[in-house]
Amino acid sequence: RFITLEGGEGAGKSTQARRLATALRGHGLEVIETREPGGAPGAEHLRAALFEDPAGDRWDAVSEALILAAARRNHIRHTIRPALERGAWVVCDRFADSTTAYQGYGHGVSLETLEMLYDLAAGPFTPDLTLILDVPARFGLSRAAARGVVNRFEGLDLGFHERVHLGFHEIAAIDPERCALIDAMGDEDTVAARVMATMDARMAQ
Ligand code: C5P
Repeated sequence: RFITLEGGEGAGKSTQARRLATALRGHGLEVIETREPGGAPGAEHLRAALFEDPAGDRWDAVSEALILAAARRNHIRHTIRPALERGAWVVCDRFADSTTAYQGYGHGVSLETLEMLYDLAAGPFTPDLTLILDVPARFGLSRAAARGVVNRFEGLDLGFHERVHLGFHEIAAIDPERCALIDAMGDEDTVAARVMATMDARMAQ
């Protein structure tokens, strides 16, 4: 099974991805924890290229989408598919919905363009379940800032992060079979319990 965690800044994705993987291992499953952008050696190089942009003007949003598509193809071929084929579970911190939310809703790249790139990179391949961790943009930003993790270029631009947040809501509404929107306000244990309850409910279907 292929499970992705999505959400804006400071939603707690990485923490919850780690906890989910640990819980699944507790059930005796083999679990691979991975992330995007990155998750395979080639894709990690592309991640570094994307983030290494001292003046913040090296890549426009379409270029970002192209780099992300190449990285995703590499990640699927070298990490995700081989793991799924041997029966492992894959828990991924961000995946294609982040591209839709950040480059699409956030930066205005058309959703048709992004869909075309996804098709080219991944073909008919989608997560079995996507958990979208939801916190208000303003709250997530202050949580991330308190941790000293400031988004690389968009910084504390609240308008941008509000659009990303709205994007994740739209994604959940458009594809409710695959996506579950999870209230991520509250402490780590509370959110982890919601994640597990959602997993149980969805996986039992
Ligand atoms: O997962 P994490 O929150 O660490 O992501 C790091 C950064 O990567 C985000 O703040 C965002 O700026 C950027 N990103 C992006 N587009 C994506 C995925 C990530 O701009 N599709």
